[in-house]
Amino acid sequence: MRPPGADERPLVGVVGSGIAGLRAANAILRSEVDARVVVFGDEIHRTYNRPGLTKKRYPLSDSLGMTIAEDVKVKGAESDALTWRLGTGVETADLRARTLRLSTGETFGYDALVIATGVRPRSSVRGDGECRLHTHRTLRGLSDARYVHQRLQAGEKVTIVGAGFVACELASLAREYGCEVLMLEARRSGPFESLLGERVSEALRRWLVRHGVTFLTGDSARELLCEAGEPDAAPSSDRSLFIDAVGSVPNVEWLHGNGLDLSDGVRVDAYMRVSPWDNVFAAGDIARYPDPWAAGSPTRMEFWKNAIDTGNLAGRSLASSLGHGSPASGISYFPSMSTEVIGLRVQIAGNPRTSDSTKIVCGDPDRPDQGVIVAYLREGAMVGAAYLDQGARLNGAYIKLLRSLRERQPDVLHAP
Ligand SMILES: Cc1cc2nc3c(=O)[nH]c(=O)nc-3n(C[C@H](O)[C@H](O)[C@H](O)COP(=O)(O)OP(=O)(O)OC[C@H]3O[C@@H](n4cnc5c(N)ncnc54)[C@H](O)[C@@H]3O)c2cc1C
Repeated sequence: MRPPGADERPLVGVVGSGIAGLRAANAILRSEVDARVVVFGDEIHRTYNRPGLTKKRYPLSDSLGMTIAEDVKVKGAESDALTWRLGTGVETADLRARTLRLSTGETFGYDALVIATGVRPRSSVRGDGECRLHTHRTLRGLSDARYVHQRLQAGEKVTIVGAGFVACELASLAREYGCEVLMLEARRSGPFESLLGERVSEALRRWLVRHGVTFLTGDSARELLCEAGEPDAAPSSDRSLFIDAVGSVPNVEWLHGNGLDLSDGVRVDAYMRVSPWDNVFAAGDIARYPDPWAAGSPTRMEFWKNAIDTGNLAGRSLASSLGHGSPASGISYFPSMSTEVIGLRVQIAGNPRTSDSTKIVCGDPDRPDQGVIVAYLREGAMVGAAYLDQGARLNGAYIKLLRSLRERQPDVLHAP
């Protein structure tokens, strides 16, 4: 019950000020629901372009942090109905009582809630810090980026653990800064192997090596990992930079105690609704939704476009639950992303992970700089595509392939 004279408009809490939270807030405001929206973010920055943190080299400057922050700013709708509570973490949630407990000690009562707290990097040692041999770091936020760019500007030797997107972008960045780069991938034979398969992964590893990266796999990599090597190792004065890019952990701890399925992020239905609560939605890296590209099995994606699409959908579903806007249709998502590995553009669409075979459509994986397109098939039907190129030689052919992939796009999924 609100006290007499209190604002009668519904109050929406958005936890997480990343792109998914911002897009959800924007979608709610666009639906013209007469609600107040409060966005909570434990970072002190407004929403920024997180992928931008590893995409370019910066000149030496005393105000590097400000330069990066300025460069990655993201615009969002400004509205009197929107309040930002930055530097304010949400510590616990009681979904039954519809209240949040904040890091400031306050409580916040809501009518509807969006969960968009993303993920944090996993580390190979406990937390960021120093082991006997290295300074361990991870890269997720602006302050991490400032630190890493500063160290790379100094031309330091860097060791990168992992061979996923962040690891490869960091290796590219470090080479651009002129650093010596060592990549360690103990479980796979090259970059993005679990997504793109061995052939493309091998091609990417060779590409990195050709551009001066030392890339160790298997036991050679394992021996240099700190868990294995540190205890007996002698202390070293060479405290070189060691970056862990070995996956992530969803930020779900504040939701404990509410009986939710938090086994891998927050499970939602095809409308981004967190069952059994009809006023709670989740979006972005944290949301595990029924993936139309994987026959509806629950999937969590850590991609920028996914955060935008699911953020929009969560906002529209929430507005519709408050009786505004047209009812949101269920999730229909065309997954696509791109990254750059030392000047080589890598574009991926669909869901190659679900394939059982691959077909080289054009080009030669051993010469990825000349352009190579790979189709990923399941039972003969295309479920994904990848395009590697140093320019845009095969752009036309890739777009044509995407068109036919889109035509195969699975139907929109609806909640049961
Ligand atoms: C270095 C880097 C490069 C990347 N490059 C690419 C790329 O090239 N292409 C691509 O598609 N994707 C890329 N990604 C992934 C992409 O950035 C993410 O998919 C996207 O940012 C997810 O958005 P989100 O809003 O779900 O989560 P986030 O951006 O993580 O936002 C969540 C926010 O919630 C805050 N938060 C967490 N817990 C709480 C709490 N309890 N209370 C309040 N606030 C909280 C977090 O601090 C954070 O600010 C990259 C990621 C990184 C780190």
